Amino acid sequence: MAYVALYRLWRPQDFDNLFGQEHIRTTLKNAISAGKIAHAYLFAGPRGTGKTTTAKILAKALNCAEGPTPTPCNRCLSCERITAGSSMDVFEIDAASNRGIDEIRDLREAVKFAPVEGRYKVYIIDEVHMLTTEAFNALLKTLEEPPSHIVFILATTEPHKIPATIHSRCQRYDFRRIPVQEIERRLTEVAASINLDIAPEAMRLIASHADGGLRDALSILDQCTALGEAKITGAMVQNLLGLVGHEWVWRLTDAVADKDAPAVLQALDELVALGKDVRQVLLELALHFRSLMLHKAAPDMTNLELYSEDREILAAQSARFSHDELVQIIQAFQSAANEAKWAPEPRITAEMALLSAARGVIRNSDIAGLSARVAALEAALARPSQPQPAHTPPQAVVRPAAKEAPVRMEPVKAEAAGPGPVKAAATAQPIADPCQVWEVVLKDLLAGGKRSVHACVSQGQLTELGAGHATVQFGSAFAKERSEKEDYRQMIESALGQIAGQPVRLICTLGTPARPKEKPAPATAKGPEEHHPALDQAIMMFGGKVIKEEKNGED
Ligand SMILES: [Zn+2]
Repeated sequence: MAYVALYRLWRPQDFDNLFGQEHIRTTLKNAISAGKIAHAYLFAGPRGTGKTTTAKILAKALNCAEGPTPTPCNRCLSCERITAGSSMDVFEIDAASNRGIDEIRDLREAVKFAPVEGRYKVYIIDEVHMLTTEAFNALLKTLEEPPSHIVFILATTEPHKIPATIHSRCQRYDFRRIPVQEIERRLTEVAASINLDIAPEAMRLIASHADGGLRDALSILDQCTALGEAKITGAMVQNLLGLVGHEWVWRLTDAVADKDAPAVLQALDELVALGKDVRQVLLELALHFRSLMLHKAAPDMTNLELYSEDREILAAQSARFSHDELVQIIQAFQSAANEAKWAPEPRITAEMALLSAARGVIRNSDIAGLSARVAALEAALARPSQPQPAHTPPQAVVRPAAKEAPVRMEPVKAEAAGPGPVKAAATAQPIADPCQVWEVVLKDLLAGGKRSVHACVSQGQLTELGAGHATVQFGSAFAKERSEKEDYRQMIESALGQIAGQPVRLICTLGTPARPKEKPAPATAKGPEEHHPALDQAIMMFGGKVIKEEKNGED
């Protein structure tokens, strides 16, 4: 007997065995029992989730000798022929290869004739979104006035490509991606039925790799049986699927957390030597960092389909990154994986992404933070008599006085006149001009859309930026008190912290600001927004934000 693929052997033949799509099973069975048969159905959903299988069961339900029935007998001639694909009344059309007007014209002629043996002529059009516009128009004509003995079942993985005119004439059913646990359960059943000894870990790998499609999962299981091994292990499945594997991903993650560039490059090099695809490395890393992010956010939540369920690893590794870092690293790995698809040397793309992650310099989504650092760096460089030791990394320039006592801003000039590098290095580390730092903070707040905070804090002036704290002097008691409240304080401290490169605690004082701000705040890059002092004042006092500025409105 010829070999039959597992997914065909295990293809459900009635609604009750339809796997993972309970909502569709119930609705269709009820509709058939009630005699409510539509003329056109649209089955939408990812590949391998049971659309065509359901279409064939529906065809059987309609044409079974005992039907129409929600439980086709699977024994009568009609049922048997539909199962074998030889029914004279059920037609499967693959729109991917028959997408033209001629096929649909033929179909329009054919639908006029009554069914040969059953009650209904059923047309199953797979991948229907592939039809040409002309073919869709021709199909629409039939759907507008369908003969009573015709049922169309349109299946698609991309329902958004179906014209609205067709869509509106169909009853739509959405097939869901089958959860990993359910696929695992089914695989266990199937493996037991064919006496395949397979490790639970291997089963989980197959289930998560199938991406919600049972057909893919069964095909992989089929490949496993072809290995001819007594027992299928996780490592075998990993090799079969070209997966990188948990241990490697954990090792790379630790190296990134250690900021150990040589270890990162070493691991990548070993993976390449093992013949692993660097894009797969990036994808699995992105999945693992997603798991770390989710674990950090909700450690007790289950059913999140994590890359690895090892709670100890998740707890230990997620503690080594901040939430923002995890988000940025995931973004970087995902875009690198996309780039690697087209890059002439994908390995370079992977190396850049990994090294950036290891150095913690991924800031592509945070232009404001980057510009703040650049501005502070420029300010520091602008003062020539504040030499830096040659080996000091650039970050040190914008990290003011990491360990030293607070530095007053005023004596900067006197110190600038100081003589040699030795003395300068011995004294407190140089920091950027407070006025410039403050400018950057204000710009950041504005660029971040925090106009009400900006309106309030722009009334103050940074007078001191020391080890872990910053002093801002306000002329008005109201602005001072408002800035001290938790919400504003957090935003100001975060903006200052970005520049200082360390957490900064805000101290607000009352007095006459050294340099009261006269000029209007700089406009954001987005557009010709105007700033009305009165409006800013109002925002500061009452909170809220400007949704739209009316040019004709009165101030
Ligand atoms: Zn039957």
